[in-house]
Amino acid sequence: MITSPRNIIILKQSTLPSCYAQATERAVQEILNYAPQQRRYQLLTNVAANDLADMWVALSNSRTMETSRHIRFKQIETTILSRALDYMAHRSKSPIDPILLLNDGIYPPGYNYVFGYTTGDQSATVVARGDKSPAMLTDDQFWQILKHELGHKFGATTVGNRPSSELYNYSGLGVHCLSEGCVMNVITSMQDLVSNPTTRFCPGCMAAIKRQLTR
Ligand SMILES: [Zn+2]
Ligand SMILES: [Zn+2]
Repeated sequence: MITSPRNIIILKQSTLPSCYAQATERAVQEILNYAPQQRRYQLLTNVAANDLADMWVALSNSRTMETSRHIRFKQIETTILSRALDYMAHRSKSPIDPILLLNDGIYPPGYNYVFGYTTGDQSATVVARGDKSPAMLTDDQFWQILKHELGHKFGATTVGNRPSSELYNYSGLGVHCLSEGCVMNVITSMQDLVSNPTTRFCPGCMAAIKRQLTR
């Protein structure tokens, strides 16, 4: 059966510097190159992405928070953001996988913040810098979260590909890797980022990604 490839598009909120979109493009390409013959995905480049990203942000609910230092920052609610992403993806003729890069922060209902997430069907990925917030990511941390979310997107810890003892399903946060120093270790706080600064996939996660790319 011949299916059309999923089109990956990188969308950036206009308040985030453009180097973030370029570096994300390189990170995605690097992963796609793990299986150079793969036909499942293609990365669309040179998309005029800022306007789209800003439109999605506008469609979503956001709240303004104040830190203890009385700096105001914006946070977007993830379920509404996801609904806007879904709507856009389904309106398109060919399958679209958006990677949304935000300068603002995001929060799922019941949480103060998350750094990023990938939808359960692996189609949409969001990474949020959390500008001015107490959980604002440094550049290195942003790349770590991006790599982690791309790992989720490309099946790094897909159940069924890996022995279950190596996997860890952290309450509602999906399956993660237990190998020491792997970027797919669970991240629930700033402390997790500080204690395991890495952008590397362990051999098991790397193999799982190659399997998904060539499936
Ligand atoms: Zn994760
Ligand atoms: Zn791993």
